[in-house]
Amino acid sequence: MMMQWHFDNRFISELPSDPVLNNQSRQVRGAAWSEVAATPVPKPQLLAWSPEMAKELDLSPEEVASPEFAEVFGGNRLLPGMKSYATRYGGHQFGNWAGQLGDGRALHLGEVITKAGQRWDLQLKGAGPTPYSRRADGRAVLRSSLREFLCSEAMYHLGVPTTRALSLVLTGEEVVRDMMYDGNAAPEPGAIVCRVAPSFLRFGHYEILAAQKEPELLEKLVDFTLARDFPELEGESKAKRGAWFKEVCGRTALMVAHWMRVGFVHGVMNTDNMSILGLTIDYGPYGWVDNLDPGWTPNTTDAQMRRYRFGQQPQIALWNLGCLATALDVILQDKDLLEAGLEHYLQVYTETHQRFSAEKFGFASLGQAEEDLVTRAYRLMGQAEVDMTLFFRALAEISVNEPLPETLLPAFYSAEEFAKEREHWQIWLTDYAAHLPKQAAALAERRTSMNSVNPIYVLRNYLAQEAIDLAEQGDNSRILALQAALRQPYTPKPEFQAFAQKRPDWARFKAGCSMLSCSS
Ligand code: AMP
Ligand code: MG
Repeated sequence: MMMQWHFDNRFISELPSDPVLNNQSRQVRGAAWSEVAATPVPKPQLLAWSPEMAKELDLSPEEVASPEFAEVFGGNRLLPGMKSYATRYGGHQFGNWAGQLGDGRALHLGEVITKAGQRWDLQLKGAGPTPYSRRADGRAVLRSSLREFLCSEAMYHLGVPTTRALSLVLTGEEVVRDMMYDGNAAPEPGAIVCRVAPSFLRFGHYEILAAQKEPELLEKLVDFTLARDFPELEGESKAKRGAWFKEVCGRTALMVAHWMRVGFVHGVMNTDNMSILGLTIDYGPYGWVDNLDPGWTPNTTDAQMRRYRFGQQPQIALWNLGCLATALDVILQDKDLLEAGLEHYLQVYTETHQRFSAEKFGFASLGQAEEDLVTRAYRLMGQAEVDMTLFFRALAEISVNEPLPETLLPAFYSAEEFAKEREHWQIWLTDYAAHLPKQAAALAERRTSMNSVNPIYVLRNYLAQEAIDLAEQGDNSRILALQAALRQPYTPKPEFQAFAQKRPDWARFKAGCSMLSCSS
């Protein structure tokens, strides 16, 4: 028998539930969650799993390989102590209040307490309809599930705060999706990811209670969050709540600064997709910048407004925190306290971003001169298509005594553009080299430290798409290879050279590679 886990399920034991017991779409009031069973699938089959996450959860490889594992994480059965439920939340989508959203296709299985004492909330994504599904089917397709599975674990290994993924299970059932929203609906293989996080609370969990005028429940949820997810915070009630909001602001700032460091674009920074723990959550039409372009968004739904473009993520996170503040003000009634939290966001973001910039460029610190160099470099990168990931790896190889633009050539998408810009880069590099240490030891140290913040392997959109195309034909070898490369994203390995290349030309405008719809 597999998996002897201890569940404490605090969310459902401490917060009120929806008295209605069916999975029909409805507006839920006066409750934080609804009990709902997963809809069974015909043929659950494990396609991929994370050894690191399994270990955290005290799972052995044998347990993962057992047929019961696929049954449980395909939604066909519960283990002792598990209880399946969906939670109620709302959110601001693309700047507008959207009302009730909720776990429309995510089902919680319970909160595991591991042998090490860590709490992990388990969640199946794609396990069937819930009261929060609105008109959708509660299912998920392989392509989006694979993207979520690979990317959340890749982010973890990059050192970016994120929810995790334990498993990717094929359901043996087809799901119909209109991938590009152009009237061409087609069946696709269905899949279920098991996501894992200490808490899946989102800004929208608090917003819905403020919007629907349920201040007592809001108060209860805030106190619950403080007790379960932020036990380290102290003080009397109001000060403690203020300190909590400030902490959420600080963590959010740190998360977004990391996104900017690695070139990650979330794509749908709606407030229902913002974690209270400052974790990257809900991997949908996200993308990685190939050529560095602050105006780029991977999300086709956002192609016009580009609200969630790469360069705007820091401002959007602040806007989202403002929404959370508005909700919390219903019970805090202290604008100054909330304002202090938002200030804290700006401070933490600025400090962290500056520290990351210094580290990415290999400066000991970031004075005015270094900051000017950074600004100039980004401006130059905007003048020709320059691959962000390859640029920073190449920059670490620049010779201080004889800085040559050719060192950067592998990062350029066009040799002609490079030739046009070469002189500008020569000037920049000469100034740049003047700000680097001169001693050999310090230089070697600089390269090591640059390479420890500038990844060589990121989940480029086209790499994910190639893994999807193969997986849809029943071949999971690319998933395994990507997992292996992305496990140590700062360490180059000859066998993974193919994963450290510029986006190929064929991928420039291909669906799934340069643009993604929300269809999933
Ligand atoms: P997202 O854009 O993925 O963050 O989802 C926004 C809302 O739509 C959430 O409440 C989701 O649970 C819900 N949702 C998205 N896709 C589905 C689906 N296939 N079935 C049910 N609900 C969904
Ligand atoms: Mg979402």
